[in-house]
Amino acid sequence: MSEGLVHLYTGNGKGKTTAAFGLALRVAGRGGKVLIVQFLKGLPTGEVMAVRKIPEIEVRRFGSERFVDPKRPREEDIALAKRGLREAAEAMSSGIYRLVVLDEVNVAVAFNLIDEGEVISAVRSRHPRTEVVLTGRYAPPSFYELADYVTEFREVKHPFSSGIPAREGIEF
Ligand code: ATP
Ligand code: MG
Repeated sequence: MSEGLVHLYTGNGKGKTTAAFGLALRVAGRGGKVLIVQFLKGLPTGEVMAVRKIPEIEVRRFGSERFVDPKRPREEDIALAKRGLREAAEAMSSGIYRLVVLDEVNVAVAFNLIDEGEVISAVRSRHPRTEVVLTGRYAPPSFYELADYVTEFREVKHPFSSGIPAREGIEF
C-alpha cells in the first residue's frame, strides 16, 4: 500500500495553484520536503517569492516569460516543459520529497507540450511515500482516473468578467 496519494485540482475557477501551495505549506510545517515544479510560468508570482523563504520548499520553473500559443507552441516552450517533466519524474521517484507539485501540468498536456501518458507513468513510478499534486484547467479523463483526490474548481463569479484586471498579490 502506497502512502503517497495523488491529488488533481482542475476546472475553470480560481484557487488551484494557491491550494497546491497551501498543501505545500502544510507538509513543510510538518518538516517534509516539497518540490514545486511549475510548467508554463516564467513571470514572478507572490506565492513563489514567499515559499523561497521556506527551506523545506524548493521551486523549479519551466516556462518562458511569454505566453504560450496553444495552437503553435514554440520549440523553446516544448523543450522547457519536457525538461520540467524529466526533473519532476526523477524527483517523484527519488524518495527525497514528501510532496511534489506539478503546477499547470494539465495545461502543458492540453497544449501538447508534454505527453499525457508520460505524465501518468511518471506519477505511477513515484516513491511510495511521495504525494503528488497535478494542477491546471483542462485535465484529461485519464488524470481523473489516476488521482485519489479530484477537486474541480468551478467559476461561479470572477471579477475579471466585470472588467477588473488581474491584481498583484491576489492573482499573481
Ligand atoms: P490561483 O493561481 O489564484 O490559485 P488558479 O491556479 O486556479 O488560480 P489558473 O487557471 O491557473 O488559476 O489561471 C491563472 C491566472 O488566472 C491566475 O492569476 C488566476 O488567479 C486567474 N484566474 C483564475 N480563474 C480565473 C477566471 N475564472 N477568470 C479570470 N482569471 C482567472
Ligand atoms: Mg494555476
